[in-house]
Amino acid sequence: MDKMTPEQRHRCMSRIGSRNTRPEMIVRRWLWRQGFRYRVGVKSLPGTPDIVLRRYSTVIFVNGCFWHGHDCEKFRVPSTNTAFWEAKFARNQARDRRVYKQLHEMGYYVLVVWECQLEAPRRLATLQALSTRLAEIYLDTHQAKPRPYGDGDAVAPGIAAEPQE
Ligand SMILES: [Zn+2]
Repeated sequence: MDKMTPEQRHRCMSRIGSRNTRPEMIVRRWLWRQGFRYRVGVKSLPGTPDIVLRRYSTVIFVNGCFWHGHDCEKFRVPSTNTAFWEAKFARNQARDRRVYKQLHEMGYYVLVVWECQLEAPRRLATLQALSTRLAEIYLDTHQAKPRPYGDGDAVAPGIAAEPQE
């Protein structure tokens, strides 16, 4: 492969944000069957997350290992135009980090599922781990907060248990 034409380069760029990829559909079908409800491709959020679960304050990115430069067997920098590709992957990774940070600051949990984690031998374990993580997040975000003293019930939990002098 020689130098890329602008057209080829553009195709590469547009692949990165592509929707409805097979790995993404695997995750979506799983979540739906498990009873999770979500929105897809929410453009109002940084990075247009693949899946948004508002009740869980969570966004999920289903990332292709090649384009997002995952540290795994599926990712290998092409042997031609190496400098071009290395710069490109570095930019993609920097952008991912920036987007995750922004979402985190907005109060979202950011979960990343990698394409290689959805391949046959690991797929079920990955999906089950995802469900477990969502359940944990739900507990974290919906735990009953102690009510301030004097607001209805006698005392807030915890205070009542303190030893008396
Ligand atoms: Zn990978």
